[in-house]
Amino acid sequence: MPLDIAIVGAGAAGLATAIFARRLDRTARVRLLDGARRPGAKILVSGGSRCNVTNVEVTEGDFHGGSRAAIRQVLRALPVAQTVQFFADLGVPLHEESNGKLFPDSNRSRDVLEALLAACAQLGVERLDDCRVHALSHEPGQFALDTSRGLIHASQVVLATGGQSLPKSGSDGTGYALARALGHHIVPPVPALVPLLLDAEGRLPHAALSGVSHDAEIAVWVDGRVTTRVQGSLLWTHFGLSGPAALDVSRHWTRAVQEGRAVALTLSVYPGLTFEAADTHLMALVAARPRATLQTVLAHDLPAALVTMVLQALQLDAAMPARTLTRDGRNRLAHALAEWTLPVVGSRGYNYAEVTAGGVALPEVNAKTMESRLCPGLFLVGEVLDVDGRLGGFNFQWAWASAATAARGLTTKGDR
Ligand SMILES: Cc1cc2nc3c(=O)[nH]c(=O)nc-3n(C[C@H](O)[C@H](O)[C@H](O)COP(=O)(O)OP(=O)(O)OC[C@H]3O[C@@H](n4cnc5c(N)ncnc54)[C@H](O)[C@@H]3O)c2cc1C
Repeated sequence: MPLDIAIVGAGAAGLATAIFARRLDRTARVRLLDGARRPGAKILVSGGSRCNVTNVEVTEGDFHGGSRAAIRQVLRALPVAQTVQFFADLGVPLHEESNGKLFPDSNRSRDVLEALLAACAQLGVERLDDCRVHALSHEPGQFALDTSRGLIHASQVVLATGGQSLPKSGSDGTGYALARALGHHIVPPVPALVPLLLDAEGRLPHAALSGVSHDAEIAVWVDGRVTTRVQGSLLWTHFGLSGPAALDVSRHWTRAVQEGRAVALTLSVYPGLTFEAADTHLMALVAARPRATLQTVLAHDLPAALVTMVLQALQLDAAMPARTLTRDGRNRLAHALAEWTLPVVGSRGYNYAEVTAGGVALPEVNAKTMESRLCPGLFLVGEVLDVDGRLGGFNFQWAWASAATAARGLTTKGDR
């Protein structure tokens, strides 16, 4: 007997699709196939093993990739309040933390995964773990899935195979090949929410800053003009940059490089201040403590190690009384603090990326149902699509919302 619905990938999006679909139609035979022996690896590692399930406020502006209108439509299928209720009903109440991030009260990602798996079992979703789908073909009326556990037929198929980030979790990009075989186009994938590597020979020897974090604004310059500014906390590491500001900006850098554009990142340690405002701020700092050393004055609101590095790089004497700083020196200092070019030479790649930017082109999917416009009966959900969210629970919200949307499309009887 062919299945009604075969879901390829039992990650966040696949598990949620199975639950929503069976809730809408208890007669549909639904089977989850996953290449991993234990599904849900990414849920387990997410949010530092605490799983940032969603965010109190989610709009299309929190995402990149496919069109804003299509993303908005999908997000509307499952507003955040319903996500919160969905998890509360599964026995996983959520609480709010900084920047609107919602975590399980237990602070255990394992509880999120176990609740989803338990709901699948309770709803009679069939599961086939350790079942890798190698090829997918479409014949009139049904799909044939060539898997590591034999041939499987289904009248509808959901691709929930994720992107390429953390490939050891099982999401290694094979979903793109499956979609391509059925006529879909793939927006070239690049690592996103990924730490950035700095040139060790750069003017700012970053290794000495390892472990230092501070508020920052990073500007992305593409072909000579600023295309994006990201604010947040920046963490210096032995290899380069991490922390929310670096992770959020990374997809812009990797995308520009992939497109062969001239790209540069500049750092401001005074987020939101222009060069002129940074200069005025420096003057105020000096005026407040004219006898203090330059190092002390700057360390008033910046990490001391960062101040030391910047002064060294500018060849300014850290021990000089601040009031003796020349106009030219102050100018160079304000410039360095408001617009320091970061010598980024690469990213840490998919092994360290939280998500993949790029994927199946969104216009090829009906945003009301997640059904392919090119291959009727094929549905696509989650990260396999060309949609990537910023840090803060947005990527999971995309998984839940696209799953809810797909479930409606899958269970519309006329389509089966
Ligand atoms: C370290 C880390 C931390 C993260 N933290 C957060 C966070 O706190 N909040 C947040 O919102 N997002 C977070 N993310 C991102 C989030 O985990 C993903 O966006 C989300 O899991 C995507 O869900 P998905 O179901 O689309 O894909 P995935 O979770 O990648 O699941 C895809 C599944 O498909 C299976 N599969 C793939 N190909 C095949 C095949 N050919 N045959 C059979 N099975 C296949 C894989 O084994 C996998 O189980 C984090 C990601 C990482 C890597």
